[in-house]
This record gives sequence, structure tokens and C-alpha cells, in this order.
Amino acid sequence: MKITFFSTKPYDKEFFDKVNQDFNFELEYFETHLGPHILNVIEHSDAVCAFVNDTLNAEVLESLSKKGVKYIALRCAGFNNVDLEAAKRLGMRVCRVPAYSPEAVAEHAMAMILTLNRKTHKAYNRVREQNFSLNGLMGFNLYQKTIGVIGTGNIGAAFAKIAKGFGTKILAYDVAESQELKGLGIEYVSLDKLLSESDIISLHCPLMEATHHLINKDSISKMKENVMLINTSRGGLVDTKAVIDGLKSKHIGYLGIDVYEQEEKLFFRDLSHTIIEDDTIQRLMSFPNVLVTAHQAFFTEEALHQIATSTLSSLSHFDKNETFENLNAVLV
Ligand code: NAD
Repeated sequence: MKITFFSTKPYDKEFFDKVNQDFNFELEYFETHLGPHILNVIEHSDAVCAFVNDTLNAEVLESLSKKGVKYIALRCAGFNNVDLEAAKRLGMRVCRVPAYSPEAVAEHAMAMILTLNRKTHKAYNRVREQNFSLNGLMGFNLYQKTIGVIGTGNIGAAFAKIAKGFGTKILAYDVAESQELKGLGIEYVSLDKLLSESDIISLHCPLMEATHHLINKDSISKMKENVMLINTSRGGLVDTKAVIDGLKSKHIGYLGIDVYEQEEKLFFRDLSHTIIEDDTIQRLMSFPNVLVTAHQAFFTEEALHQIATSTLSSLSHFDKNETFENLNAVLV
């Protein structure tokens, strides 16, 4: 089987080449994003392996199908960038990596909280400049604070367990409640209650119609003054303009984002020598209480190994028409 990869970076190639020693597929790598502009490079491929910012709308899927591509493998958990209805109609199979390392993302969310709170990024630079003053570095104890977790699937549950270890009270909101988390003393509440009682809110639900701009002017107005908002899920969950207004009015006291609505034009690239035309991200980065990381929450050795293993296993299952042990990996 020949698999064509898009949006590949050196680390993808390293992990996939290593894991492929057990599969012996033909792997072809392109650095560019997948979209209508690049379809001409695909020749004799059985499968396309795509990432979070690749475009897999009906137009792209139809062209891929005409070229003989039968399988789409997403090397990520989210699948908001794929038109699953179109894939079904075209008889294509689509898989994803549902839970490669929930802890990787959950730990990054906690890292963002600790950085924003204790300002270790500022302290690091200060001390290197021989400035040993503490002015402006004061944080707050997480102990006994209330953390709201929106979406308690694999990542939200891992995050709630980590947060619980800090002695916090956890409020959870999800359309499906986890008995395991309830058993750990985590309380499910309405979204409004979570918004109004949490000192820190962390987003872990998928991006879909129902969750698009879940954080907007109205939901921000229900939050506590000086709330900390963390988004490691998908940029589209947050109305960025409303969040900027919340930061300007000081209603939002801290913002940590690993994802951004317009990230496909920015993230995963070195743009240090270019002029950034996106004024919204520039405004966000100008706040001293905003921390932006470029979709790196998943980026651990363990996660990359698991992503490569799961993706190639799923494609092998498709090819041999085998049943999947983890049905969550199959989208179509
Ligand atoms: P999951 O499917 O295990 O969990 C998602 C949870 O959200 C489920 O419990 C589901 O019931 C809940 N949910 C669905 N609709 C909801 C709604 N309207 N309101 C509240 N909750 C709702 O997924 P996961 O593995 O935990 O991943 C969560 C998200 O994290 C993914 O969709 C993806 O977008 C994002 N993610 C980000 C990174 C990163 O590197 N930043 C990496 C992996 C995943």
C-alpha cells in the first residue's frame, strides 16, 4: 500500500519511518498542507495521511477518490476538518487516532496554568538578566480553587485527575457524564454553573456545530472576574474577538491557548522573518497575561510513537478488511 502524507515535519518522518519497519508500506511525504492546490502530486496512492489543518472538504475528497485514494488516515484525534458525509458517499474509509496520549495534552494544559499563574517564563528571563526581584511575579495557590473542565473524554478526564492532585475542586460539564470521574468525587454541573463558579476553565470538548464559539461574549459575561481560560482543544471553540474584549476589560485575567481559530496560516511554521498579517494573534500576543503555544500539546515522544503505530495499524486493518479493536478509531 502507498500512503501519501501531507503537512509533514521531520519528526513525523522519523517516527513513521521507524514504525513502518513493521509494516513495509510505501510512504511518500509532502511538507505542504493538503488542499485543492496540491492534488496533482498524488499518484497511485491508496491512502492519504493528513493532520489538523489539512483541508478534506467534499471537493478535495472527490478529487482524491477519482485518483484512487480509498483511505484517509488522520494522525490526530480531532476530525472537524473532514467532510465525513462526503467520504461516506464516496465509499472512502476514514480513521483517526482517538487517544494517542491524553496525558500529553492534559499535562500541557496544566503546564499552561502553572506558567500563567507562577510566571516562570518571566522569572527565567529575569534571572538570566541578573534581575532577582520578585515584583510582578506573584501567583495564587491552586489548592482549594475551583477548576471547570468542559468535555470530560480522554483528555478532559486525564486533566481532571491531574488537577485533582493539586487539591482543587473540579466542576465538570459534558453531554455524557463519566461514572469513573464521578467516583473520584468530580461533580457534573450545568454549563452556566461551571462558568460562574470556576476560577480556571479548561476546554476539552471537540469542535462541532454545537460547540463552535462556546466561549463568546455571553458565556464570558457569566464567568468570574479575573478568570483563567485555557484552550488546548480547537481554536473554533472560542470567539477570539470576544476574548480580546474580555482581556481588555480585565474580566479575563489570564488566557492560555495552544490552538487558534486562524492557526492554519501560522502554526507549525517558522515565520520569524516575515510580517504577520493576522492582527488578532498580534493583539493577543501583546497582552502580558496571555500565553500562546503553537498546537504543541500533543508533542511528546510517547504520543508521536503512538500516533504512528495507531495510524499504520488502522490502515493495515482497512487494507485487510479486519475488524478494529478500538472502534473509536474508525470515523467512516
Ligand atoms: P474525546 O472524544 O475522548 O472527548 C470529548 C468529550 O467532549 C466527550 O466526553 C464528549 O461527550 C464531550 N462533548 C461532546 N460534545 C460536547 C458538548 N457540546 N459540550 C461538552 N462536551 C461535549 O476527545 P479527546 O481525546 O478528549 O480530545 C478532545 C479534543 O482535544 C479533540 O476533539 C481535539 O480537538 C483536541 N486535541 C487537541 C490536541 C492538541 O495538541 N492541542 C491534541 C489532541 C486533541
